[in-house]
Amino acid sequence: MIADKAYLIPNSVGEAIEMARINKDTFKYLAGGTDVMVNRFQGNEESSCLIDLTKIESLKGISKEGETLRIGALEILEDLKLNTFIKEEFPLLIEAALAVGSPLLRKTATLGGNLLCENRCLFYNQSEWWRESVGYCLKCEGDICIATQGKNACFSELVSDTAPALIAMDAQVELIDVDGITRIKVEDIYSGDGVYPRNLTDTAILTAIILPLNRAFRGSFHKLRERESLEFTSLTSAVAVDKNGKLKIALSGVDPKAIVVEGTVESDKAELIKQAVKGSRAVDNDMYSRKYRREMISVFLNRSFNKLNIL
Ligand SMILES: Cc1cc2nc3c(=O)[nH]c(=O)nc-3n(C[C@H](O)[C@H](O)[C@H](O)COP(=O)(O)OP(=O)(O)OC[C@H]3O[C@@H](n4cnc5c(N)ncnc54)[C@H](O)[C@@H]3O)c2cc1C
Repeated sequence: MIADKAYLIPNSVGEAIEMARINKDTFKYLAGGTDVMVNRFQGNEESSCLIDLTKIESLKGISKEGETLRIGALEILEDLKLNTFIKEEFPLLIEAALAVGSPLLRKTATLGGNLLCENRCLFYNQSEWWRESVGYCLKCEGDICIATQGKNACFSELVSDTAPALIAMDAQVELIDVDGITRIKVEDIYSGDGVYPRNLTDTAILTAIILPLNRAFRGSFHKLRERESLEFTSLTSAVAVDKNGKLKIALSGVDPKAIVVEGTVESDKAELIKQAVKGSRAVDNDMYSRKYRREMISVFLNRSFNKLNIL
């Protein structure tokens, strides 16, 4: 049955994918809804069918699987701090999760939803009448980017705060789609195209986040935002080093995708910072200027190297 303005509640991943397949092009998956429902309110999301994933038990729970920790995509951000494995092995993830929104949002928002939340831009996340008044933009039926005046690329930014922390600790995501199960690195979710920022098909369901255990990660997390209490990121940085001296930097808020730089504790830190700044395609589409955010990349990374005692 093709749903017209429907709210569907599947009980299994298979059922959800079948509903999605039938309603292709007109549906949206819903987890905590803290991103989807706000975008609908602003007229940026208009699917006629919502598929609510929250009754699917297989998307919940945190369990050890061999040398990895499996976190169900529906795990609530605020609850991650209660899990012993996460507390002991991945405190960086807790720090990142607690930097998302406000306590009320975090009690509803899921980890999977946070990785897949929509990219943002100062000129896109506005009311319908505001966007209409400027002739829309590349991300919403217009033919020009308001931030750059260019016609070729949209620079809406990845704003997930947990993505940099998970990427820095070599996390993967498990996806189920019509043709089976796959696992990819978290950074490979993101396409770099601001209009279509994910490499996933519409019907794919993110089932779990997989983290490697026993790597003894030490980490450092920073978030640039106007208000500590409640604000999307203007730059999030996470740096993790493991027991073998592997070092991984991940940034969000300064590009349509995550910026990732890898090295070791012995690497030339100035060179790593240079790569991170060079990789970022930040434009003036945020409350903070492009110049300031790019400068803050160096500030945050230097602070992180200092904290981790690897300068
Ligand atoms: C005022 C406000 C402040 C915010 N501040 C921040 C912030 O500081 N940092 C931040 O990162 N975010 C912030 N957000 C955005 C949002 O609250 C979070 O990103 C949240 O984690 C999204 O999770 P959710 O479960 O509510 O996702 P939803 O809104 O349910 O879904 C988000 C997206 O993911 C897709 N999706 C969800 N789960 C799955 C799944 N398992 N498989 C496939 N697709 C799925 C949905 O279709 C949708 O496209 C804020 C939102 C508001 C309203």
